[in-house]
Amino acid sequence: MPVKESYVSNRVLKINVGFLLSAGPGHSHDTAFDVPLVRVADDLMLEYVRGPLRLSRTSTGVLVQGQLETSLHIECVRCLDDVTVPVTLSIEELYAYLTPAAEFQIQDDGNLDLAPLLRAEVMIATTNGVLCRPDCKGLCPECGTNWNHASCSCADADIDPRLVALKKFLE
Ligand SMILES: [Zn+2]
Ligand SMILES: [Zn+2]
Repeated sequence: MPVKESYVSNRVLKINVGFLLSAGPGHSHDTAFDVPLVRVADDLMLEYVRGPLRLSRTSTGVLVQGQLETSLHIECVRCLDDVTVPVTLSIEELYAYLTPAAEFQIQDDGNLDLAPLLRAEVMIATTNGVLCRPDCKGLCPECGTNWNHASCSCADADIDPRLVALKKFLE
């Protein structure tokens, strides 16, 4: 993974919705989200997060809806190379207010923290693994050579014995 020199803390993923809480149900607020390289969690960095967000006050909290574009470093599931892939996250989640049992909650200080939601959405979006490219050739199961970058001679050993005999004959 390339070492990145600067990133912003996940504090930028907190949105203060105190004004919506006091405005009451039925009010909504549109905002454009745009943050640079951010450490969302200990195990997740996102290259950027940008896109429109709508925050709507409901009777139980604030509904967050939006289409966020992001990009992350991840291992190709087939060849294990690090790749950077764009991911679109379709967000629709209710952040509950004064409901301790809810998974996503508005904090006492009126902040709504997108970090855990983004992490959950990224996990869902990448749950089946990501390929570095659609036709990734993968690794040689014998010697581990990355077939995208080099070839190896292991495959020769797998040739049908009759073909080996033929090959010897031709040589
Ligand atoms: Zn790959
Ligand atoms: Zn090999």
